[in-house]
Amino acid sequence: MKHTVFIKKFLAMGTLALMLALALAGCQPVQTTQPGTVGVERKQLMLVSQEDAERAGEAGYAQEKQKYASRGALNTDKMQYQRVTAIARNLIPQTAVFRSDAPGWKWEVNVFTSKEINAYCMPGGKIGVYTGLLNDLKLTDDEVAIVMGHEIAHALREHSREQMSRAMSEQVLMTGVAIIAGMSPGQLDLLQKAATVAITLPHSRKDEREADRIGLELAARAGYDPRASISVWKKMQAANGSGPPQFLSTHPAPESRIDDLEALIPAVMPLYEAARRGNRR
Ligand SMILES: [Zn+2]
Repeated sequence: MKHTVFIKKFLAMGTLALMLALALAGCQPVQTTQPGTVGVERKQLMLVSQEDAERAGEAGYAQEKQKYASRGALNTDKMQYQRVTAIARNLIPQTAVFRSDAPGWKWEVNVFTSKEINAYCMPGGKIGVYTGLLNDLKLTDDEVAIVMGHEIAHALREHSREQMSRAMSEQVLMTGVAIIAGMSPGQLDLLQKAATVAITLPHSRKDEREADRIGLELAARAGYDPRASISVWKKMQAANGSGPPQFLSTHPAPESRIDDLEALIPAVMPLYEAARRGNRR
């Protein structure tokens, strides 16, 4: 009897593994971004479509906006909102270097009144900046551009979609739900929840390194001083004293973050200088 159960389980596991293999086989690794000057070239395995990831991001973003709007905490400081929007407007056209579709995304910027030291960019270009980041750390425009460039880089690299894909492959293993034929409403609902909590989940250190590199180039090309990447991370670390900023728990620092950035700055300085000459900012 026991033996039969074991065989049945074994067969079931085999079927699941086969289904996962089929699902994976249907998805060739993709190149979400061009390497740029900073040379990020890792290919990614995506089980979730870009459309589904964006739809989930949009739903999560709408929820956040509604939450803050209902308590009068959405874009309340007009000066601050204009400042952040202006920086985003300078950064967004630079995304074309990494992917040609990105400048045409439905970009959106909102400032949330909150003590939290945090910022994010959801799939498809939905940017959120918390006032705690701007006020507590007293960031310069260059430093804000570094943080926003980093966030935009996560969206360009579709790190959330990759995270969702990993969660999805685990779900396939657990439930045996085939995802080859597309998403069921239940799965989409699950993704939506995943996107909502995504901003509270830590990125991997590998993702952080990629976002640092691409973000640095975006900022430099937009005419923001790449050397501000060093000062902003130092400010972030210093703020660690009164409890770690939310930003650091969702963006864990690779040990060598400052060293990596310092090594990259000479490569992007000419881009920064050219942008400065062009814009006279
Ligand atoms: Zn990050």
